[in-house]
Amino acid sequence: MTLPKPRAAVIGSGFGGLALAIRLQSSGFDVTVLEARDRPGGRAYVWEDEGFIFDAGPTVITDPDCLKELFTLSGRKIEDYVELLPVNPFYRLVWEDGDVFDYVNDQAELDRQIAARNPADVEGYRKFHAYSEELYQKGYVELGAVPFLDIRSMISSAPALMKLQAWRSVYDKVSSFVKDEHVRQALSFHSLLVGGSPFATSSIYALIHALERRGGVWFPRGGTGALIRGLVRLFEDLGGTIRLNAPVQKITTRDGRVTGVINHDGTVETFDTVASNADVMHTYRDLLVDDPRGKKVGKALESKRWSPSLFVIYFGLKAEHPEIRHHTICFGPRYRELIGDIYNKDVLSDDFSLYLHSPCATDPGMAPPGCSSFYVLSVVPNLETAQIDWSKEGPAYRDRILNYLEERYIPNLSRDLVTSRIFTPDDFTSELNAWQGAAFSLEPLLTQSAFFRTHNRDDVIPNLYFVGAGTHPGAGIPGVVGSAKATASLMIDDFETAKA
Ligand SMILES: Cc1cc2nc3c(=O)[nH]c(=O)nc-3n(C[C@H](O)[C@H](O)[C@H](O)COP(=O)(O)OP(=O)(O)OC[C@H]3O[C@@H](n4cnc5c(N)ncnc54)[C@H](O)[C@@H]3O)c2cc1C
Repeated sequence: MTLPKPRAAVIGSGFGGLALAIRLQSSGFDVTVLEARDRPGGRAYVWEDEGFIFDAGPTVITDPDCLKELFTLSGRKIEDYVELLPVNPFYRLVWEDGDVFDYVNDQAELDRQIAARNPADVEGYRKFHAYSEELYQKGYVELGAVPFLDIRSMISSAPALMKLQAWRSVYDKVSSFVKDEHVRQALSFHSLLVGGSPFATSSIYALIHALERRGGVWFPRGGTGALIRGLVRLFEDLGGTIRLNAPVQKITTRDGRVTGVINHDGTVETFDTVASNADVMHTYRDLLVDDPRGKKVGKALESKRWSPSLFVIYFGLKAEHPEIRHHTICFGPRYRELIGDIYNKDVLSDDFSLYLHSPCATDPGMAPPGCSSFYVLSVVPNLETAQIDWSKEGPAYRDRILNYLEERYIPNLSRDLVTSRIFTPDDFTSELNAWQGAAFSLEPLLTQSAFFRTHNRDDVIPNLYFVGAGTHPGAGIPGVVGSAKATASLMIDDFETAKA
C-alpha cells in the first residue's frame, strides 16, 4: 500500500517560497502555493505599462548554480525554462566628482582601475579577495543552507567566525585592506543589497564579493519576471498547484500543531504541514493571531531591528540610452553620514545615493523599439525609524530624484518620459505585508543572524516552517534560495522520521 503524499501549503510565492515548493514537490510532497497578489514573485513582481516591462525588485542575479540546482533536482535543465544573459560590467560606480569605476570580472582591468587611484591598493585588493573567498567557503558553502535551530550549532561555528573577524563591520574590514575611499565604497556597498549597513553589518557579508567574482552577474532574458515564470512552470510541471489572489487569513492550530489555513473567503483547508514565505512578523502576529505562540513571538520581533525600506521609481523613456550600463550605482556627496541617517534618523535626508537599473543594456526587449525602461531606487528609513508621510513626500522625492538623474546622467529625461510609477515604504506594507515597510525583513546584524534569526522551523509548533528573507541566511536571491534548501531538508527529514 502506498502512503498518501504529505500535503504542504507554502504561503507566498517569493523566490524563497517557490524554491521551497519546488524542492518539496520534487521530493514527493503534494504542494499548494497560496499567493496573495495577482502575480507570483513577491518582491520580484512585474509591472507592465505601455509596452515597458519593469521588474519591481531583484535585478542582480548572482550564483546561478543555486537556481540551476532547483531544476537538476528533478533531472531538468534551467536552459529549457529561462535564458540567463551575462552582465558586464557587473556594476558601473559613479561619483559626483566625475570618478567612474567599472566593477568587472577581469583581474587586469580591476588592477588597472585600482592602481590609478592608489597603487598600493592593488595588493590590498588581492588580500581582500582572498579574505572574501574564505568567507564564501565558510559562510555560504558550509553554513548558508544549515538550519540553525539550537545554540549548539551557533557555538560550533563560532571559532571560525572569530578567526574571520566576523564581529568587525564590512567597511571596517575592507578599510584594513585598501586606503582609497572610492575603492572602499566599491568593495563595501554590497551589504546594502541585502538590507545591511556596511558600517554595522558583519564582515561575513563581504562574501558577496567572492560570490559575484565566482559565479558572475546575470540577467534573465525577459527580466527577472521571466525567471519567476520559469520557476512557476517548473513547479507546475512537477505537479504542484499555485493559487494567485489567494491571501491566507489565518494559520489554524490544534493541540500545538498546525492543521491548515483559513483562506480570504473564509474556507478552511487542511494541510499536514505549512511553511510561510510571508513576512515573519505578519505570519506570527496576524496569521497566528489565535495561537499564543503568535502573540509571544510577534512581541519579541517588535524589539528587533528591521532593515531600511526603499523608494523606487519605475520609468519608461521614448529614447534609447546605450551609454548607460545595466547596473549603475550613483554615489551621492556623503557615504558614511548618509547611511547613518538612513538607519537612525527620523527624517529623509536632502541627499541620496541611487541604484539605477537599465535592463535594455542587456535585453532591449524590456521596452518598445526605440525606447528604454529604467528603475531607480533610493534606500530610505523604514517606517519605524522615520514616520514620513509618503503620500505627500513621495511625489516630491520622485521629482528630486528624476531631476538629479536628468542633470547628471540621463539628458532630456523629462522630455522623453512616457510613463512612471513609484513604490514607497507604505507600499511595502500594504502590498507585501512587510513590517515597518522593511524591504529586506530583519536587519542582517550578527546578533540577528543564523540562530538569532527566525528559525526555519518554529521552536514550539513542530509542523510550522519559515522560508525567505526573515529566516537564515537572509535576504537576496541566493539567501532566500539557500533558506529554502535549509527548510526543505528539515521538512523532508521530519516527514521521514514521522513515517518511520
Ligand atoms: C527593489 C528591490 C531590489 C532588490 N534587488 C535585489 C537584487 O538585485 N538581487 C538580489 O539578490 N536581491 C535583491 N533584492 C532582495 C530580494 O528581492 C529579496 O530578498 C527576495 O526576493 C525576498 O524573497 P522572499 O522569498 O523572502 O519572498 P518575498 O519576495 O518577500 O515574497 C513574499 C510573498 O508572500 C506573499 N504574502 C504575504 N502575505 C501573504 C498572505 N497572508 N497570504 C498569501 N501570500 C502572502 C507576498 O505577496 C509575497 O508574494 C531586492 C529587493 C527589492 C525590494
